[in-house]
Amino acid sequence: MSLVNTPAIMLRRKDYGDYDVIVTLFTKVAGKVTTIAKAAKKSSKRFAGTLELFSVLQIVYRKNRRGGLAVLQEASLQQPFANIRNSIIKTAYASYWAELINEWLESGQAQPRLYRLFHDALWLLDTDDMPAAGVSIILQTQFAQATGFEPNLVGCQRCRTKTDFLTENQVMFDIVSGSLVCDRCNAGLSSEIYLSKGTIKQLQWVASGDMAKAQRIRFTPQALKEGLTFVERFLPYHLGKSFKSLAFLRKMRNTTVEG
Ligand SMILES: [Zn+2]
Repeated sequence: MSLVNTPAIMLRRKDYGDYDVIVTLFTKVAGKVTTIAKAAKKSSKRFAGTLELFSVLQIVYRKNRRGGLAVLQEASLQQPFANIRNSIIKTAYASYWAELINEWLESGQAQPRLYRLFHDALWLLDTDDMPAAGVSIILQTQFAQATGFEPNLVGCQRCRTKTDFLTENQVMFDIVSGSLVCDRCNAGLSSEIYLSKGTIKQLQWVASGDMAKAQRIRFTPQALKEGLTFVERFLPYHLGKSFKSLAFLRKMRNTTVEG
């Protein structure tokens, strides 16, 4: 009765003592759950090869009624996403997403839309159907939608002119208000983020549906560059956190040609 059986995605793992592993999972039925996998380091049979980051598992865990760690009883591998772990740049992207999601999720609260988004983004990253940067733009844009942080890209926040009717090609984005501000209204504001109208259109398309829709997009090189800079500044700012894994991702991007 206190056993829960659910699909789950591995968010974090940390060795605990000589034998055990603490595993944080994004479960489909209960959101974030932190479990202890006893003897996972020693008895290779029980959790053999399953407790890898970003893997989709079917798990059974026992709830702890006194508020302590849940105990992971069983885990079987559903989708290993091995291509992600075999690529340092893909791993860096997935690590950032996992940190973002881990930061946002509350323990024990199901987030079916986010679960689906994370799962589908990992799936797309595992294939080579889209550049990793593109998948990351989609994940972060839809994460912002799902969590209520969505930026205003419809038009200038101050004069309400719609984006299509603005005369400038590059529109300033004010990160503090989370909104576009047109050239006529932005006196006194400074921002390092400018988005071209083409990028704004592509970001709006990505925000307007689910992953099945968004993955049909072909980002222009300009939208990939501007869009990535934009989402990677916007989300950490509004979540009020700097992400270690994002700093690592940026470093990796600067030193590899992949992704
Ligand atoms: Zn304006």
